[in-house]
Amino acid sequence: MADTEVTIFDKIVSKQIPAKIVYEDDLCLAFKDINPQAPVHFVLIPKNRDGLTQLSKAEDRHKNLLGHLMVAVSKIAAQEPLLKDGFRIVVNDGLHGGQSVYHIHIHIFGGAQLTWPPG
Ligand code: 5GP
Repeated sequence: MADTEVTIFDKIVSKQIPAKIVYEDDLCLAFKDINPQAPVHFVLIPKNRDGLTQLSKAEDRHKNLLGHLMVAVSKIAAQEPLLKDGFRIVVNDGLHGGQSVYHIHIHIFGGAQLTWPPG
């Protein structure tokens, strides 16, 4: 898809589509996944993806944003009691990765013992 295409996640950022927001700062937003795959399932997105439809589009200029997202994961985990015993993050990339929304995002799963390996 064109990297300027408006995604469902852009509409969550602009509040055109409601979402249960669990974390927000100047650069990113996390909300409850509409179709949770674990007792806790959040989706963390950059508000402005800056061309990052998917992780495989990452360039050197994205280092700060990607690092910011990782630190946000830590903050989100710290504020969610169900994640105190650990959690898993997943980034689906492209067709074989099972990506469905082309606006880079980090899934945060937890609230139960997760199995390994994932499918
Ligand atoms: P992907 O498959 O691209 O890695 O993940 C996209 C995720 O976004 C899916 O887990 C899907 O359930 C979630 N999702 C898609 N549309 C919406 C929506 O409108 N609201 C919320 N909260 N989650 C959504």
